[in-house]
Amino acid sequence: MEELLDPGLGRVRVFLKHDDNKPRKLKYNLGHPRLLTFGGAYSNHIRAVAEAGRRHGIETIGVIRGEEHLPLNPSLAHAVACGMTITYLDRASYRLKHTEEVLAGLRARWGQDIAILPEGGSNAAAVRGCAELPGEIGTDYDVICCPAGTGGTLAGISAGLPEGKRALGFAVLKGAGFLNGEVARLQQEAYGRTWANWSVNLDYHFGGYAKSTPTLDRFIAKFRVEGVYVAKMLYGILDLARQDAFAPGTRIVAVITGRPLPRL
Ligand SMILES: *Cc1c(COP(=O)(O)O)cnc(C)c1O
Repeated sequence: MEELLDPGLGRVRVFLKHDDNKPRKLKYNLGHPRLLTFGGAYSNHIRAVAEAGRRHGIETIGVIRGEEHLPLNPSLAHAVACGMTITYLDRASYRLKHTEEVLAGLRARWGQDIAILPEGGSNAAAVRGCAELPGEIGTDYDVICCPAGTGGTLAGISAGLPEGKRALGFAVLKGAGFLNGEVARLQQEAYGRTWANWSVNLDYHFGGYAKSTPTLDRFIAKFRVEGVYVAKMLYGILDLARQDAFAPGTRIVAVITGRPLPRL
């Protein structure tokens, strides 16, 4: 596994595991002929669902936040090219997307039999998919770090950890204290229990989801990493290491989630 070398790390070692978490989250969610889900106009989850739909012959419907903008951006154009039907929900309704009222409206329009995946794809099946990640790490380590959006990836990694190891998520949203309850809720839903081997750091959101600062922009340019998720986690790891937050000799596996946007 590639090692991140930076003088600020001191005796902490950081190994980079490139791993696209979205297909993992979908793996056990694909047993339906028709799948509807939600996302923003640049959502990695929307793209992953569209690709999985094409690969597995599943009809997919993507409910996008806000209004239609033509031409479609590369992310949505790719989803449509994969066969996804795109529809839009105004921002007020989108905020209520997981309420029974909005869901009933979507079922009335798209069919009662349609399977509905939450935004970001985090549900019990997604947690079980992500729990397979630790078993695929071929090096010795103490901590697995991952970025946390909706928390499904962290919930799964924690559930799949061997005894004695820990998981640390870095929230990419501002005010993401909800993650503490949400990760536990997802584990409960998936396994009927929770784990105490994980925590979430809320300090490296840089202003909120998809927001940045000149400091983070410089970091992204220096390390050439994806900016919405991965840069915030890596910045957090390096910053915590500089503050001696990890014991000397700690071996960290940082999960480099996602992959580059498709080009048109
Ligand atoms: C969705 C996503 C995450 C966050 O995963 P959650 O399970 O929502 O916490 C992290 N990195 C990338 C690249 C993602 O697309």
